[in-house]
Amino acid sequence: MTDTTSLTPAIFLDRDGTLIEEVNFLSRVEDLRIFPYTKNALERLAEAGFLLFVVTNQSGIGRGLFTKEDMHEIHKALRAEFGDLITDFYYCPHLPDEGCDCRKPKTALIERAASEHGIDLANSWFIGDKDIDIQTGMNARTRTCLVSTGYGSKHQEILDEPPTLIVENIAEAAERIVALLRD
Ligand SMILES: [Mg+2]
Ligand SMILES: [Zn+2]
Repeated sequence: MTDTTSLTPAIFLDRDGTLIEEVNFLSRVEDLRIFPYTKNALERLAEAGFLLFVVTNQSGIGRGLFTKEDMHEIHKALRAEFGDLITDFYYCPHLPDEGCDCRKPKTALIERAASEHGIDLANSWFIGDKDIDIQTGMNARTRTCLVSTGYGSKHQEILDEPPTLIVENIAEAAERIVALLRD
């Protein structure tokens, strides 16, 4: 039997439309709009014992619309806002047709996080606003939560399989996930 006692549950977070307002190919810190409730939601999840990771597809890099450095500036701004609440940022810079193994709904980024940080995937969650976020969680065998911000209200209708939870936003996601720990 595998010893899972040293493993930690995690919340894998989509970035655009989930933590921040959806902006098509966000590349400039000036255009970054963090939802007013995001930090509090992340605090609640961290206090409940989850490690937090951002997992984001950034094909704007592969398309030449912006550079990795531009993206790192955005992530630096998020770190400035959230402090150490987010343990790590994982991103896929590739184009959809490049056939990489890291673009969501593929699971290479989650597997990397799980091995780098010792994650208990069965007790972890993927939270996002798109069908591919939910599919990523299902592929990695985490629980899944669709937020209605960003593309979430539209993508609710095109999901192949229902997620564990459908919520209004990241604040309600945190509330519901923490409540489930007490049941
Ligand atoms: Mg998104
Ligand atoms: Zn990739």
